[in-house]
Amino acid sequence: MESGELPATRVGIGTDRHRLATGLPLLLGGVEIASSHGPVAHSDGDVILHALSDAMLGAAAAGDIGTLFPDTDPRWKGLASRHIIVEVLETIAKLGWKPGNIDVIVHLEQPKISEHRDAIRSSLAEMLGMSIDRVGVKAKTGEGIGPVGESLAIEAMAVVQLVSAEER
Ligand code: MG
Repeated sequence: MESGELPATRVGIGTDRHRLATGLPLLLGGVEIASSHGPVAHSDGDVILHALSDAMLGAAAAGDIGTLFPDTDPRWKGLASRHIIVEVLETIAKLGWKPGNIDVIVHLEQPKISEHRDAIRSSLAEMLGMSIDRVGVKAKTGEGIGPVGESLAIEAMAVVQLVSAEER
């Protein structure tokens, strides 16, 4: 880098929330987790992938998944969220970016996510084409209060650093 030149990185943030209902599948970062309840959603309701997609699009100032994949469009009904990630990676690549590292927090009362953490990290690493040591996943309960604590909702927050797509 020449002196005085800005480093070629960007930072983005994304969040997502879905209502929970019994008898629906729970997908997190592309991994199906055994659970008595899952998100009510137009797509598969994968809150990690939705938060991550918005974080990547935000970092590249390229809009959000609501505009790329409107939930009024029947084409996206039941859409596997890994397709959203593929689309988002293509969008940011055209602008010269790729993800450098990510950090994710899932807010869910139950089941416990910690035992699935490495499976989720590995799935995200593969989807994003990065090594697992660049993927952070944490989980928090709602301490029994609020929409998360009362198991009415699942939420995720993601932070992404984008680096120049030319970097190895
Ligand atoms: Mg969503």
